[in-house]
Amino acid sequence: MRDVRMKGFAERADVEEVDAFLASHAHALAPEPVPLLECAGRVLAADVTARVDVPGFRRSAMDGYAVRGEETFGASAYDPIPLEIAGLSLPGAPFDGALEPGRAVRIMTGAPVPDGADAVVMAEVCEERDGRVEITEPVAPTKNVGVVGEDIRNGDVVLRAARRLRPQDAGLLSSIGEATVSCVRRPRVRLVVTGDELLEAGSTPSGAHIVDSNSVVLRALVARDGGDALPFEILPDVPERIRESLCDADADVVLVSGGSSVGQEDHAPRLLAEVGSLDFHGISMRPSSPTGVGRIGDTFVFLLPGNPVSCLAAYEFFAGPTLRALGGRPRRWPHRRLHLPLGRKIASAIGRTDYVRVAVEDGRAIPLATSGASILSSTVRATGAVIVPRELEGMPEGETVEVYAYDEDAET
Ligand code: AMP
Ligand code: MG
Repeated sequence: MRDVRMKGFAERADVEEVDAFLASHAHALAPEPVPLLECAGRVLAADVTARVDVPGFRRSAMDGYAVRGEETFGASAYDPIPLEIAGLSLPGAPFDGALEPGRAVRIMTGAPVPDGADAVVMAEVCEERDGRVEITEPVAPTKNVGVVGEDIRNGDVVLRAARRLRPQDAGLLSSIGEATVSCVRRPRVRLVVTGDELLEAGSTPSGAHIVDSNSVVLRALVARDGGDALPFEILPDVPERIRESLCDADADVVLVSGGSSVGQEDHAPRLLAEVGSLDFHGISMRPSSPTGVGRIGDTFVFLLPGNPVSCLAAYEFFAGPTLRALGGRPRRWPHRRLHLPLGRKIASAIGRTDYVRVAVEDGRAIPLATSGASILSSTVRATGAVIVPRELEGMPEGETVEVYAYDEDAET
């Protein structure tokens, strides 16, 4: 392998090529059982089939009286029909026995309707006196009686594999008696944050030292994409330490921040090639061109440039879709995409993919002037990014562009 340090890349891969490679290699991880109370937000690994009916009994939809509907025909305020009250049915405490002709059972919403009864008259049109109820309105058979399985039928597929479970989905799983749910395992992600100049997050910048921001951004992105970030420490630019950390094989994804380029202290690419495979190093894009992608066994390794904007962009282009795929989610961009006219032209170069931060002002996407890869605040000012594909030399003012918004609340 050619040592690229202090020489630069002889050739670069295209973004599409790297993306296609990752798309073909990253598949959903194996299922794991997840306790019901933790399953919301997780991705279902298999179809779920109901093994019970919900409700499992005929259920009253009203507070009132369970009756034989035909016995109420002809009832009116002037000519009420009296029925003898045979007892009470409460939710969880049904009336014991069947309803005999000429009788009614006082019943509450959610309580079982006794055998023999086929309708519930609502309390508002009834009057109780001396152990009898006077019905002043007829009720048709089946009225206000929920049938067995009206919500879920035994044998129904209630949720399909690959669904990201919403709160009400978890509720439905509870209602059919599931205690654990088979979900796609969340990818475990190890951060390998390198740089002699870095102070740990929470420190005050001092002298020639800067505070690590990449790990903070990456951890939040990993959480967004359904991954589980493992504990980590900042490593110095010492090859042995970086190699050790790369080989620590408990992760599905390793994100290396810094030391991925062609500088003298950029050891990660060579080390990755030694302990696994460096499938790509150097990508025709701006920023993030020193990005590397490789594998160690089944683990995906992303060498993300240290510059904060490059680190973010390289994650979004390559690591994010891979993490989502491993977790059984769609690879596509997880936030809104806005379609807006470009407020100022963007210059690019044929053969290179550009990631341009834009702010939305007056309904137009304005490329941010401060575009250096080290300027993290540009991503904070930005609403999202426009991607200029490699076959374009740029984009003219006024053209409608797609903005990959950084969140769901982005204004249009
Ligand atoms: P490198 O990719 O290691 O050559 O780093 C490129 C630039 O990014 C340098 O200015 C680094 O100081 C900066 N940098 C590296 N790692 C981080 C980090 N974790 N947080 C913020 N800036 C970083
Ligand atoms: Mg460095």
